Amino acid sequence: MDRSKFGAFMIQCNKCSRGWSVSEEDLIKEKIICQDPECKSEFTIYEGIKNGLKKVEDHITPNFFLANNAYSLMVDIKIGYSAYVHLPEDIKKIYKIMLFPMGPFVSGATDITNNGFNLFTSLANDSDPSIVGDQGKVMAMIHFKSEDYEVPWLHLLQYAFDQLRSGEYLTSILLSEIALEAYVDSTLTIGYSEIGLDKDSISRLLVATEIPVKVNPLMNNLFEVKLASSASWKDWERKALKWRNGIAHGTKVTATKDEALTVYKTVVDSIFHFIEGVDNYRKKQGHTEGLFFRSK
Ligand SMILES: [Zn+2]
Repeated sequence: MDRSKFGAFMIQCNKCSRGWSVSEEDLIKEKIICQDPECKSEFTIYEGIKNGLKKVEDHITPNFFLANNAYSLMVDIKIGYSAYVHLPEDIKKIYKIMLFPMGPFVSGATDITNNGFNLFTSLANDSDPSIVGDQGKVMAMIHFKSEDYEVPWLHLLQYAFDQLRSGEYLTSILLSEIALEAYVDSTLTIGYSEIGLDKDSISRLLVATEIPVKVNPLMNNLFEVKLASSASWKDWERKALKWRNGIAHGTKVTATKDEALTVYKTVVDSIFHFIEGVDNYRKKQGHTEGLFFRSK
């Protein structure tokens, strides 16, 4: 991932509710200090991003971590009418449009494309009908992806998150666990390529190896980090992996929200345990750049 993609991640303070987008500057800091002057809590960038990804319950500022950009604008519109809103050219995919009508009326968006959308307004239940035709304002906030990039584990994690939010718990558990597997496979592939193993051998090795072996000895051989030494290990082994296998083999046919949430959070913790471990290993090897660190 290069720098333009970091806007996709949010740093969330581990103490207060303050959150902000990851910037290049955050990557060279040893410790992140909360931007809230009254909090000033200190944590690592890994903890901050992890907290951001695990923010599931906040429905006011939805978590769209594939959307690496946001655009807001004020639209002038006659109440009771509709208007076409043009959007900037660098929009590759829209994740969410939030509308805030400035007055006693409601608004919505239809015919949404990357170029724009139709904004309409109408009276709320308790609106005074005489305001129809008056000039009104609607603030629009668009969360979008401005770079075309593909990071399979991150996409799977976003889908797992979306399924969790929409109550599809079995699917969410499967997607969360597959996100971890995709992260591990792609990281092992990079590691084996770097030590000179050919593509065919790598893919045969990965197909023939069970996930518990990949997350422990193989990751440890290449990057000196294994899942068994993380705080999320027990939940991963006894819940995430077990439930995933149960669903895939038809023995687990229902799942609760708590189960899906546990698996999602366990997977985020596990992936970040690895990301931090791999970054630390690369630092030790004298690299000047890892996924979430840059030397000054
Ligand atoms: Zn804070």
